[in-house]
Amino acid sequence: MKKVKKATKVEIEAIKATLMERYSEAVTELDYRNAYELVIAVALSAQCTDKRVNLITPALFEKYPDPATLAVADVDDVKEIIHSCSFFNNKAVNIVKMAQRVMEVYGGEIPMNEKDLVTLAGVGQKTAHVVMIEYTGANLMAVDTHVFRVAHRLGLSDDETALKTEETLVKKFKTDLHALHQGMVLFGRYICTAKNPKCDTECFLKAYCKSTEGFKAR
Ligand code: SF4
Repeated sequence: MKKVKKATKVEIEAIKATLMERYSEAVTELDYRNAYELVIAVALSAQCTDKRVNLITPALFEKYPDPATLAVADVDDVKEIIHSCSFFNNKAVNIVKMAQRVMEVYGGEIPMNEKDLVTLAGVGQKTAHVVMIEYTGANLMAVDTHVFRVAHRLGLSDDETALKTEETLVKKFKTDLHALHQGMVLFGRYICTAKNPKCDTECFLKAYCKSTEGFKAR
C-alpha cells in the first residue's frame, strides 16, 4: 500500500470536531424497526449496498417478521427472496441459522453485546459493532470500505487491514466513536467517494486531505 502522510494530533482533533459537527445525528441508512431487523439488514449489507438491502428486506420481514418464523424457514425460499443481494446463498443459510440460535439460546431476543452477537452465524466483529453502534450508540468503531478509504485519504491510518485501521481509529479518536463511524460512512458514501471524490465541490475536510485526489484538486 502506498505510504500517505500522517495526520498530526491537531489535524486529528480538527477532523474529529468537523465530523462531529456535521454528523452528530447521523444514523444508518438501512431500514429497520427492531433489533432483529437491524441485525439481518446489517448482515445482508456485507458486499451489498444499503439501497439494495432496503429493496429486499420489506418482503423478507413481511414473510418472516421475527426470529421464530425465520428459524423454521425453508432456506430455498429465503434464497429466492434475497436473490438480488450478493452472496445470497450463504447469507440465506446464515440468517436462518442465526434465527435458530437466537431462538435456542437467547429466547428469541437479539443479544445486544459483542460476545454473544459474534456467536450468531454470519456475524463477525464488524457486523456486531455496526449493530451496537446503531442500536445502542456504543463507543465502538467499525471499518467498512467507506471508513477505510476516508481514514487513509485523511492520513488517519496507513494500516493495511480493516481491523488494524479500526484499532488505529479507536486510539486516535477515543470518544464519540459511534458518531464518527456513522459520519465517516456518509462522508465516504457521498463526498469522498471511491471514484471522482467531490474534492472541489463538496469536501469540507480538504484542508486535511493527504491523498493524491485531494492534492490534485487544490
Ligand atoms: Fe476525499 Fe477529496 Fe476530501 Fe480528500 S479532498 S478527503 S479525497 S473528498
